[in-house]
Amino acid sequence: MSSDEALLERRYHVLGRNAPLFYERPVHLVSGKGVWVTDADGREYLDVYNNVPHVGHCHPHVVEAIAKQAATLNVHSRYLHETVVAYAERLTATFDSSLSSAVFTCSGTEANELALRMARYRTGGEGIIVSDFSYHGNSQTLAAVTTCFPVPEAFPRFARKVAIPDPYRDRHDRSDEELSNHFAAQVDAAVKSLQADGIKIAALLIDTVFANEGLHDPVPGYVAKAVEIVRAAGGLFISDEVQAGFGRTGDAMWGHQLSGVVPDIATLGKPMGNGHPIAGLVGPTDLIDSFGLAATYFNTFGGNPVSAAAASAMLDVLEREHLLENARNVGAYVKTGLRALADKHSIVGNVRGRGLFFGLDLVKGDADRSPATAETKRVMNLMRENGVLISRIGRHDNILKMRPPMVFAKEHADRLLATLDDALASI
Ligand code: PMP
Repeated sequence: MSSDEALLERRYHVLGRNAPLFYERPVHLVSGKGVWVTDADGREYLDVYNNVPHVGHCHPHVVEAIAKQAATLNVHSRYLHETVVAYAERLTATFDSSLSSAVFTCSGTEANELALRMARYRTGGEGIIVSDFSYHGNSQTLAAVTTCFPVPEAFPRFARKVAIPDPYRDRHDRSDEELSNHFAAQVDAAVKSLQADGIKIAALLIDTVFANEGLHDPVPGYVAKAVEIVRAAGGLFISDEVQAGFGRTGDAMWGHQLSGVVPDIATLGKPMGNGHPIAGLVGPTDLIDSFGLAATYFNTFGGNPVSAAAASAMLDVLEREHLLENARNVGAYVKTGLRALADKHSIVGNVRGRGLFFGLDLVKGDADRSPATAETKRVMNLMRENGVLISRIGRHDNILKMRPPMVFAKEHADRLLATLDDALASI
């Protein structure tokens, strides 16, 4: 038994057999730098998956900020602290002026759970609409409304799921206008179905880039129409920015900005502290003030001084290294390369994505565009064997997901594209 196999056995024993791991042969990582990670045998992998180390693994500026603050003071969130307040000011300044206050948490789950509580408090409603292939967290309420993998909880009476338009599979000769109307009508039906059960809508909770759904190309007008319907019925729009946020798309700091709709609450997580656990929400000051009066929400670790220092340092690097611009430039370069691979390999049905976030929809090549699920799994594992880490998403698990740290450069793109070319040729 190799030492990795022995570690896997110990993990099974102590963390359970079903604690998720990537790849048929899990990778045992020991260090990281920029877009590279190294395993226990000293082998380097190009990381084209992780958005948590947003400005690169172990970025020295973030590491130093964490170390410095940890050596000075770390404490419960109920004290005055300059770094925490300054970070909240800086963060809210990147949003529309209506989203002027923040609450910090430790995970995206906690942020979404709190956003739902606030929406219910503000609207007096209970109903939640999510997409029919989504994940927003692992608390009781969020697990119950999870639609992208099985959960033991019954889908709740207070929730409804709606399909999100995927222009690649759903267009059927329809214009953007027809497509957005068709899918927005499902939101209208969901609101009415809740009302028929005597349930008032509290919130529409969606990720505006639909990352877990399969990163569908946006259909102009769809999000705006869906939100309009929900607001007309008295509900709020919660934009889950856990994957789309902090400039991932290159064109905007926040996913919702691409659809031109200002949410009532935006929830944040994953990249926020470059790996340090900080998450949160941003919303109107009057909502956060009045909810705070009613609920006395506090979160012991949420936005502690070390977390705030990490998150603030992450923003420093995002700005100083012009990483949104990098996402646009390198992203366009990768996309051109992916399109060339699509021309060469008939299994690639569709190339999608924006900034440094890409999806490759692999198909069997028939008229129905049947998903090439088994092949997608093979490509993903082959890439791992060949030193490039990617993953897969979507209803049929047939969309390769590529979402590297934002310091991804053209030389890394060349390596990704060459390895992908070989993998697609050999399946
Ligand atoms: N929202 C989205 C869109 C996510 O992808 C995730 C995690 N994959 C979450 C929320 C939950 O975040 P966390 O794991 O930090 O609780």
